[in-house]
Amino acid sequence: MGEGKYDREHPYAARLIARERLSKVGSGKDVYRLVFDIGDLHYVCGDTLAVYPKNEGSEVDSILELLELQGDMPVEIRGVTRPLRDALIENFCVTHLPKRFLEAFVQKLASRDRDAFNENFSGEREDNYSLLELLARFSHVKMDGEELCKLLKKMPPRLYSIASSKNVQGDRLCLIVGTVSYKNFLGNVRCGVASTYLTSRLQIGDCADVYVATSAFRLPSDTAADIIMVGPGTGIAPFVGFLQEREYLKNSGYKIGRNWLFFGDQHRASDFLEEGELLRLGGIGVLNNLDLAFSRDQDYKIYVQDRMSEKRVELWQWMRGGASFYICGNAQRMAVDVENALKNIAATVGGISAAEVDGWLSNLKKAGRYQKDVY
Ligand SMILES: Cc1cc2nc3c(=O)[nH]c(=O)nc-3n(C[C@H](O)[C@H](O)[C@H](O)COP(=O)(O)OP(=O)(O)OC[C@H]3O[C@@H](n4cnc5c(N)ncnc54)[C@H](O)[C@@H]3O)c2cc1C
Repeated sequence: MGEGKYDREHPYAARLIARERLSKVGSGKDVYRLVFDIGDLHYVCGDTLAVYPKNEGSEVDSILELLELQGDMPVEIRGVTRPLRDALIENFCVTHLPKRFLEAFVQKLASRDRDAFNENFSGEREDNYSLLELLARFSHVKMDGEELCKLLKKMPPRLYSIASSKNVQGDRLCLIVGTVSYKNFLGNVRCGVASTYLTSRLQIGDCADVYVATSAFRLPSDTAADIIMVGPGTGIAPFVGFLQEREYLKNSGYKIGRNWLFFGDQHRASDFLEEGELLRLGGIGVLNNLDLAFSRDQDYKIYVQDRMSEKRVELWQWMRGGASFYICGNAQRMAVDVENALKNIAATVGGISAAEVDGWLSNLKKAGRYQKDVY
């Protein structure tokens, strides 16, 4: 099967062939590079891989036990009959409960319990506990398999930036995945479903259901144009793909523009993701500028936007010369700070007035020279 045969409804079973921990001892993070065999699945640098995760089997077993349900009980999912346990592992989201589920659940509570539910499990907290945590608290509530499958949300796929170039890696596709884990209001450690599936439950040789989600995040069509990439943390992922693609273009005889990467994380010793690959790309003249910001290696914090400001004159020269500017990674703070830093450079070095700077940025966007892939 080739291009276009696989999609949301018809995912490809991609085999995991390697997984390596990129964050080293002492890191506060848990980041891995995963390599999949994707056969003839087509993608272009900048695309994302959508992954259908599987829930933890032991969590599903505890849910079945609390509900006094048999895992081999057949249920029908879109015309296909399968065991309830398999359906709860693969087809449904058991970590975030939709409104319709909670409304039906509350109906089953005695009034005393409804007060406890409203006090502890409603409002802002609604999205921050799992089915198992809810059932553990109100263990007398029972639901049958059919009802569960009707009320739970379908398992949504998660997106991951593709961190390789198909022209270089062929049928191998790389991802860079950070494990999500945090404590919720109940004091329980919650682990992100897809990130822990990819970094621990999926074993080498196992297949994951995936499809390529086409993106607008693209290298400039003019291979000779310069690019500036800002990708701290796992935000580096698409830029590894971009740089490999530029290496391929260079080796194929194309004139390629200069490549500048701003990368940052907490500590250089433990969080310099893909250090070896970046140094290799620097060594062969593909990565022309690499600016690093390790926020916790000194008494004061240094972030990628600070490195941009330090290099403001050179950065502005690249922008004036037609460079494209890319941001990938954390949407909440980093992307906003980086955008503000770029606007500040345009104003202070480029002499663009405060009234004109938003218009300047939106013209860059329209020309495809300012692209963000943030989450
Ligand atoms: C375009 C795009 C590209 C992406 N690329 C990458 C990539 O290259 N690498 C990568 O690692 N990720 C990437 N992501 C993020 C990825 O898609 C997932 O969102 C991430 O892995 C978490 O998924 P999960 O299933 O592990 O967590 P989930 O089970 O979906 O849980 C995540 C949810 O938990 C809650 N939550 C998380 N942290 C906290 C907290 N501290 N406090 C309270 N609640 C919290 C939030 O509700 C959050 O939505 C990308 C996302 C997008 C949209």
